Amino acid sequence: MKPEIHPEYKQITVTCGCGNKFETGSVLGKDLQVEVCSSCHPFYTGKQRVVDTAGRVDKFRKKYGK
Ligand SMILES: [Zn+2]
Repeated sequence: MKPEIHPEYKQITVTCGCGNKFETGSVLGKDLQVEVCSSCHPFYTGKQRVVDTAGRVDKFRKKYGK
């Protein structure tokens, strides 16, 4: 029997800039570092539910000087 059905899809630890860590699956197979996560990003915490890319959020933040 082969124990690895999907050998390229591995469990990794994602470390956020806020200090939060969570596990997820990735084909990269190595740990990842992100600037914001769903736990600390204001757009995902309930004030505004904006599903967008990080780049466009960055433009938004520059526009409003934060
Ligand atoms: Zn975070």
